[in-house]
Amino acid sequence: MLKFQEAAKCMNGSTAISTYPETLVARRYVLQQKLGSGSFGTVYLVSDKKAKRGEELKVLKEISVGQLNPNETVQANLEAQLLSKLDHPTIVKFHASFVEQDNFCIITEYCEGRDLDCKIQEYKEAGKIFPENQIIEWFIQLLLGVDYMHERRILHRDLKSKNIFLKSNLLKIGDFGVSRLLMGSCDLATTLTGTPHYMSPEALKHQGYDTKSDIWSLACILYEMCCMNHAFTGSSFLSIVLKIVEGDTPSLPERYPRELNAIMESMLNKSPSLRPSALEILKIPYIDEQLQHLMCRYSEMTLEDKNLNCQKESAHIINAMQKKIHLHTLRVLSEVQKMTPRERMRLRKLQAADEKARKLKKIVEEKYEENNKRMQELRSRNFQQLSVDVLHEKHLIGMDENMERPEGRLACSPQKEDKERWPGREEEFDEPTSENLPKSQPVPFLNLSELESSVEDTTADLGHHEIPEDPLVAEEYYADVFDSCTEESEEEEEEIVFSASEGEVKDGGPQPPYRTNQQDSDIEALARCLENVLGCTSLETRTITSAAADVSPGPTVLNSVMAGTKMKHMRESAIQKLGTEVFEEVYNYLKRARHQKASEAEIRECLEKVVPRASDCFEVDQLLYFEEQLLITMGTGSTLQSHH
Ligand code: ADP
Ligand code: MG
Repeated sequence: MLKFQEAAKCMNGSTAISTYPETLVARRYVLQQKLGSGSFGTVYLVSDKKAKRGEELKVLKEISVGQLNPNETVQANLEAQLLSKLDHPTIVKFHASFVEQDNFCIITEYCEGRDLDCKIQEYKEAGKIFPENQIIEWFIQLLLGVDYMHERRILHRDLKSKNIFLKSNLLKIGDFGVSRLLMGSCDLATTLTGTPHYMSPEALKHQGYDTKSDIWSLACILYEMCCMNHAFTGSSFLSIVLKIVEGDTPSLPERYPRELNAIMESMLNKSPSLRPSALEILKIPYIDEQLQHLMCRYSEMTLEDKNLNCQKESAHIINAMQKKIHLHTLRVLSEVQKMTPRERMRLRKLQAADEKARKLKKIVEEKYEENNKRMQELRSRNFQQLSVDVLHEKHLIGMDENMERPEGRLACSPQKEDKERWPGREEEFDEPTSENLPKSQPVPFLNLSELESSVEDTTADLGHHEIPEDPLVAEEYYADVFDSCTEESEEEEEEIVFSASEGEVKDGGPQPPYRTNQQDSDIEALARCLENVLGCTSLETRTITSAAADVSPGPTVLNSVMAGTKMKHMRESAIQKLGTEVFEEVYNYLKRARHQKASEAEIRECLEKVVPRASDCFEVDQLLYFEEQLLITMGTGSTLQSHH
């Protein structure tokens, strides 16, 4: 079994592991690269050897949980099974989970567009903001995903822009239900998840977490998409917490519609019960109207995709047909290659004879046509002239002095003579007849010598020469005739087929950015979700689950292990940043200062004597807060309110 630490060593940050020997995790996942590390552990891009073609790339989250007993493993796996059954276009698909040594592993869908936090930072650095309609579209996508999960009584508990992913401009919520899977539904699960920026007042005060707490976090994300900054900011962990718990509700800048601001403010109501649910927001006329627009757009997109698919399919068919034709040529070729030189020489002679016959036939047809024309001309010219000097007419019908037939036989039926010369061709010489011509009319006929010489001319022009009698000489002589179809030409052909099919796709005008089947079906699924929401007219047709949400305890067994691991990581990270000595100094000072309820200004001043910026101590502050929370849940600590 693979040890992630070993694999990670070989991976060297985010470089692809081309040199790393293919190591299978759980007998099917091959590590590709490290994507990063987050609140729970390390995240890798993996290739699933058992996945369908084009769907191999997935994400593996490795969470160090320490030694688990079989009971804990079974419980965690049951929870994971439930998660894997969920399916929504705006929720990152949870594929599987398994325990490996001290690691709990989760396999999820891979979102190549990175997370929303990255996107926001990128825009912020470029001095750009998101267009309003883009924000509304994303907000609706998030509402649909949250509504889907809340309807199924699953809470997120850690909604933040870092947990929202982009996949071909579609937002997908990651880690839904994962915090419960790992830490059960006790409040500690929420408090320990990391950044306080998105946490609701009730979550911070340990007054219970429910669907409305997720709604608060969603409002913080909406604010961030509009303003490119956190809704609640502060120089220290505790100052942020205080702003959330008792500060003013932030509002959107003037440039945004009043309706959108009103929605956001209602989602940030300090009282959870006064916040709207996701479905209620989707039913607000302003959002409902945008929903209808989106519905039309998605339907058009899926229609376009169907057209595109048709084109792709026809390209496939053409491709297959061309391959088949190509195969046929190859088969014929292989037959030829099996022949002896003598047989091949005979084949060539046969082919040359066939070619000559084909040309003769063509010339005969041409000459016949020509004669026919001349005859018609003559007929009209000599219609009234009953007696004609045949000798004078000779030049008119193209006879020359080398003519084979004796002059005396010129008057006899030309049909008969030609039929004799070309046995079996009567049907081709059924006109003109002596009946439809004046008796003494000079009758056109084929001039054979002329014909033969023209055949020779043609064949000479085409470079046809006598095939040598010696089979081996013949072989050399025609060395390249049968070998023209090499593997190279096969490749070329494939290339042509490929570009032809590409061309077909491109011909339909500007195309949307490349979309995979998965993404196409996401849009289709999203259109269905919108249809569902639009079709559901009464809120009563659905049970809003805020009261019943997430009430079962879940696998709380992982709690203590997770909490311990989490704190350890936080302490290690802070030590790495500040150095052991500074860490100890800051830790002890902050612990004292918080207990003495020192002012923020006073704390900052003292901290900046040991570190460049007070904000460098954010993690230490957070660690102290967590340690206190842990004591609270064990019933021995003071409450947050006692701080102020
Ligand atoms: P966080 O605590 O920030 O949520 P995670 O452990 O969820 O951290 O993720 C760590 C890193 O891996 C982040 O940079 C995130 O963008 C990336 N990541 C996580 N899940 C996915 C995914 N499904 N697709 C692509 N990148 C992901
Ligand atoms: Mg995450």
